[in-house]
Amino acid sequence: MIYESARAKINLTLDVIAKRTDGFHEVEMVMQTVDLCDYLTMTERDDEQIAVTTNAAFVPTDERNLAYKAALLLREATGVRKGALIDIDKRIPVAAGLAGGSADAAAALRGLNRLWNTRLSHDELAEIGARIGSDVPFCIYGGTAIARGRGEKIERLPSAPCYFVVLVKPAISVSTADIYGALRLDRIVEHPSARKMTEALSTRDLDRVVLAAGNVLEPITTEIHPEVARIKEQLLRMGAVFAQMSGSGPTVFGLTTREQKAKRIAMEFKTWIKEVYLCRTC
Ligand code: ATP
Repeated sequence: MIYESARAKINLTLDVIAKRTDGFHEVEMVMQTVDLCDYLTMTERDDEQIAVTTNAAFVPTDERNLAYKAALLLREATGVRKGALIDIDKRIPVAAGLAGGSADAAAALRGLNRLWNTRLSHDELAEIGARIGSDVPFCIYGGTAIARGRGEKIERLPSAPCYFVVLVKPAISVSTADIYGALRLDRIVEHPSARKMTEALSTRDLDRVVLAAGNVLEPITTEIHPEVARIKEQLLRMGAVFAQMSGSGPTVFGLTTREQKAKRIAMEFKTWIKEVYLCRTC
């Protein structure tokens, strides 16, 4: 039996540079994993079947599940003819901008690689992961990294300082495709720079990190769902040093260097929003 944790991610920066001819967008993002995790348990089966079970009500357990897809692709890439039961204890909110499904796919690739003894490197697993989704390669490595291309080209960075993170997910659903569809590249006022964020992180100074942060999708999601802006304002009012939407939303994260403050913010939010999580970047 193999255990793997699947960490959620936040975007410290998210920039969209161009629309590609294949329909995807060219992005540049500084990604950071947090210690809010799904937990995967993988067991070998006697037959050659793949099966997924999960405690999450609205997550599919057939080939649409990204961990299931990961198992099929790993088998295809290695020629292995073994089966597995993958149980996903889901803690990361679904369709939240936190890459929960991608994290599960990456954890399944890492875990099955051990269970089936297929001995692929993380770089090889990341290549397989890119066929599942743009965020999967980053989730193979975790930590702090710049993601380019459609998100699958990873430049790993030194670990970011340990910040406390309050994740607030309003009860709304956001379609990533709709948000990218509504984005007008010529209307982006300020492009965050991954290079500046890298420098800021290396100084370990949160004030510099704040100056370098930015998510060009935030105004788009906020226009459709003004709640996102209200949560952001509230996080700042309650004492977060910084607050920003993750991915295409709707989750907003607040950062602070002080655990007590993060706990207080999370507790206050819980009185009016159900899905609030306190976690860390380390
Ligand atoms: P991203 O930040 O990468 O855009 P997200 O956090 O917005 O991702 P996910 O939680 O990954 O979104 O879920 C998106 C969709 O993927 C859901 O509608 C869900 O049905 C489907 N899905 C497939 N496999 C999984 C999985 N293992 N966990 C969660 N969702 C999954």
